[in-house]
Amino acid sequence: MTTHEKVVLVTGGSSGIGAATVEKLAEQGLTVIAAARRTGKLEELASKLRNKNYAVDYKQLDVTNFEQMEQVVQEIKEAYGQLDVLVNNAGIMPLSMLEKRKITEWNQMIDVNIKGVLHGIASVLPLMKVQQRGHIINIASIGAYSVTPTASVYCATKYAVRAITDGLRQELTHNIRTTLISPGVTESELADHITDGEASEAMVEYRKIALPASAIADAISYAILQPSEVDVNELVVRPT
Ligand code: NDP
Repeated sequence: MTTHEKVVLVTGGSSGIGAATVEKLAEQGLTVIAAARRTGKLEELASKLRNKNYAVDYKQLDVTNFEQMEQVVQEIKEAYGQLDVLVNNAGIMPLSMLEKRKITEWNQMIDVNIKGVLHGIASVLPLMKVQQRGHIINIASIGAYSVTPTASVYCATKYAVRAITDGLRQELTHNIRTTLISPGVTESELADHITDGEASEAMVEYRKIALPASAIADAISYAILQPSEVDVNELVVRPT
């Protein structure tokens, strides 16, 4: 199979890193399916890229819902006969000190950032095993390597993604590759949903040096475009 025959599913494809990845991979001639909850944003992105004759489709998906994730993978299998790459990118980061007791936001981070990734893995593995090929790319963070105040729960979810990805790498056979991509601060909507005033203010200065989302899309594309016997396991990408 040449790279250009690959079919890729990108979760969280409606903004930031996910949207930049959809665009980058489509430009490179891959068939890309963008999935997220906001279908208006997905439709806008897909039509912009289809107007350039790129192969882009989109699906409404809440990654916390395993049945929906399985359904999306099934629909891709029926439409394209294959799914070669899953980019588990959907994530949220409502930062706050633990003493603020934002239990609902902790649970949401666990549901999206950890369970969402597991739902993705569980949904694609049976198909990838039958295909005898595949590639699962999980987006972690520099927060998967060290913890900072206000980010304890967020970092815990990203440490978990790192652990899961390494375990998956060691367990897998069937010619299936695994890649962990850990971005440093990157332009996106990620910090827009922080409800805690202090944590939100701290982000303003921190995010001034943010990388463009295309920089992370480039790293994802690099991992995908390697020859099939080469598995790029971990990439950390920070602003200079
Ligand atoms: P954005 O907020 O711009 O994008 C997050 C994406 O996740 C959106 O497309 C959103 O779509 C989607 N999403 C959120 N919840 C769900 C859900 N329940 N089901 C499906 N999709 C969901 O942020 P980024 O682009 O920055 O985030 C992408 C990934 O990169 C995340 O995993 C994040 O943790 C990671 N990251 C980002 C960094 C940064 O500085 N930007 C640094 C390190 C890691 P919708 O709302 O339409 O569902």
